[in-house]
Parts: sequence; C-alpha cells; structure tokens
Amino acid sequence: MHAQPSHTLIVATTNRHKLVEIKRILDRLDWTVEPVGAYSPGPAPEETGRTFAENARLKALRYGRVTPHLTVADDSGLEIDGLDGEPGVHSARFNGATYAEKFDVIYARLHERQSLACPARFVCAVAATEQGRVVFEATGTIEGRIAEKPVGTAGFGYDPIFFYPPYGCTLAEVSPERKSAVSHRGKAFRKLREFIVSRGTRER
Ligand code: IMP
Repeated sequence: MHAQPSHTLIVATTNRHKLVEIKRILDRLDWTVEPVGAYSPGPAPEETGRTFAENARLKALRYGRVTPHLTVADDSGLEIDGLDGEPGVHSARFNGATYAEKFDVIYARLHERQSLACPARFVCAVAATEQGRVVFEATGTIEGRIAEKPVGTAGFGYDPIFFYPPYGCTLAEVSPERKSAVSHRGKAFRKLREFIVSRGTRER
C-alpha cells in the first residue's frame, strides 16, 4: 500500500479535457492533483498576454493567490503558418461558437490563400507559482500540418484538423496515451514533473 500523498498541486484550468490530460501526465507522483475550482477562484482573468508564456504566468499568478499550494496554469493553442500564426493565443475564442464553425473559417481562409495542408503546431506554455512567485516555466510544442479535412473524435478542440505525420493521422484519431506521448502539453507537463521530482518528491 502507498503512503498518503504528501503534497498538493493545484491545476488552474476550467477545461476538463486539459485537466484529464494533465492528471494522466502527473500520475504516480506522491502528490494530489486538484483543480482550482474548490478554492472559489472567482472569474477567470482576461488573457491579455501577447504570448502563451505571458498568459500562463498571468493565470498562475492570479490563481496562485487563492491557494496555499504550488499552482500551475497553462496557456496553449494552435499556430497555423498559412494564417500567419492564427489562431494562436486566441485559439479558444477564435471565430465561431463551435469547433465545426471554427474549422469552416480556417479551411475557407486557407483555401483563399492556397495554403491548404500548411505546417502548424500546437504550443503549450506552463507556469507554476508558489507564495506569489513564479517558480517554474516551460514550453512544449508539437509540429504537424493541417489535415485535408477534420477527422477523428478523440481528444478535444482542434485535434481533428491537426495531422501528425509520424502517426500518419490526426490527433483526434489516437488514444490519450499516444497523444500525450508526443503532444505540446505532454512535453511541457513532463518538464513540470521533472521539476517536482527534482525537489525531492518520491515517484510511486
Ligand atoms: P486556453 O485554455 O486559453 O489555454 O485555450 C486553449 C485552446 O487552444 C483550447 O480551448 C483549444 O481550442 C486549443 N487547444 C489547446 N490545446 C489543444 C489540444 O491539445 N488539442 C486541441 N486543441 C487545443
């Protein structure tokens, strides 16, 4: 039997898909991983940063204020080269209420620019705070291209239009484990995991 986890990490996100991915990456640590919701964090801060890293810091500092624990936030999104890096930091709020609508806008614009199947990448910036200070930052990316059409039902967000050449399919066609093994979030949060372990935490 394992000892009770001795530390708590708060994950500052309201996106349950992200939380599931993050918990899976951070499993088998001697830590409890909890969403920030239990601390009544109030309204989400406006993501006014120009970069993923700025927004991750902003969210980690804002949410870190309401918890007594190490608090981690991430900011992530899809950069499409044929759209000059859009939707980028605006990925969650990009045109269209549904992802089907967002995809229509993306394909229409790429078609106009004759840039279908152009390179794209997901980026994930992570920041962790403790007692009001940023104590850890990292970024992860995954390079791919825009799929000919949306395919797959796994994952979330833009996964169906992100074709990952080494797998020969979109990220919405692979299991959560295969996605995490190569994804922007997987890479960034595995660095956080190393940071936590380097501070003397046991791995189970
Ligand atoms: P954030 O919550 O402000 O970081 O917004 C992230 C947005 O980027 C999400 O709502 C998705 O639209 C997109 N995104 C980030 N990571 C992923 C991913 O792993 N798959 C698909 N879409 C993602």
